[in-house]
Amino acid sequence: MADWFNTLPLEALDRQQWEALCDGCAKCCLHKLEDEDSGEVYYTKVRCRYLDEDNCRCSDYERRSVLVPNCVHLTVENSAEFDWLPSTCAYRLRAHGEPLPEWHPLVSGDRDSVHRAGVSIRGRAISDEYVHPDGYDEHIITWVE
Ligand code: SF4
Ligand code: SF4
Repeated sequence: MADWFNTLPLEALDRQQWEALCDGCAKCCLHKLEDEDSGEVYYTKVRCRYLDEDNCRCSDYERRSVLVPNCVHLTVENSAEFDWLPSTCAYRLRAHGEPLPEWHPLVSGDRDSVHRAGVSIRGRAISDEYVHPDGYDEHIITWVE
């Protein structure tokens, strides 16, 4: 099925399809702050140090849970809680039955289209090696919704 990514529900994806659904934007590897009173989540431009920012991929995907204990694993079982993800995230879109955008690599056939469309964090983030956690609030951004 050529357009499986827009027709199959998340529950029907095999492991390879599940992994391919990621658009490679890396927005989920940015640190977030949560307002304790309102529960609102604010994205910062501070990124995980293990992200290879040039290609927006985890530099040690297999060991990510060991390296970063709070690195979030997206699974079909927790798909009801995907609304903290960016509005552009393919998993969030598909959890709501929405189609992937035209810049998604599965639609365009080109892994760079997510970068050309200005959707990824490439060139816009700072590694958490250089920012004290108490200072994350100085790096809150509005370009992730
Ligand atoms: S936000 Fe979603 S689509 Fe983007 S890198 Fe993270 S999991 Fe993949
Ligand atoms: S460990 Fe890898 S997947 Fe997890 S937040 Fe860091 S860069 Fe992203």
